[in-house]
Amino acid sequence: MAGLVPAIHVFYVAPCIKTWDRRTRLVPGPAGGRTRVPGMTASMATFMQIALEEARAAGVRGEVPVGCVIVHDNKVIASAGNRTLAERDPTAHAELIAIRAAAAALGSERLTECDLHVTLEPCTMCAAAISFARVRRLYFGAADPKGGAVEHGVRFFAAPTCHHRPEIYGGISESECAALLKDFFQARR
Ligand code: ZN
Repeated sequence: MAGLVPAIHVFYVAPCIKTWDRRTRLVPGPAGGRTRVPGMTASMATFMQIALEEARAAGVRGEVPVGCVIVHDNKVIASAGNRTLAERDPTAHAELIAIRAAAAALGSERLTECDLHVTLEPCTMCAAAISFARVRRLYFGAADPKGGAVEHGVRFFAAPTCHHRPEIYGGISESECAALLKDFFQARR
């Protein structure tokens, strides 16, 4: 029976994660149209670029360079980078800060019409917050085999105790997101 567990995870996670060719940089289609990747629009790549700017700014502050934006009605309503050092708060991940700001901006604790773009695969804490906030779609950049909780680790959204699962798209601008993190950690060695 033990051998069944990973198989169930794969079966359960696979339909909700759409991962594009991780070796290919995504190129926006003509005038905001679709790319060859179904469902990928120029705006999705643009929002990830804004998240990357937040990530770079976090890196300059000495924080782990992760950035996040939340989009409502095709507009950015919240953006943030990691602030765990600045706030002396281990929960001050980019996603949590952005979720709080978006909820405040909308005057609602539910972000049902919102899409969240983050440069790194969310950790368990942030994945749970994304679920509690009822985020509609999650777009993430680099995979995080060490700390991620979407495609790795606890695979939070596939857990039977997860009661809201966003649509999930991984690997957006992945090489850029991953390079930023790699450079940051190499420079600190
Ligand atoms: Zn997190």
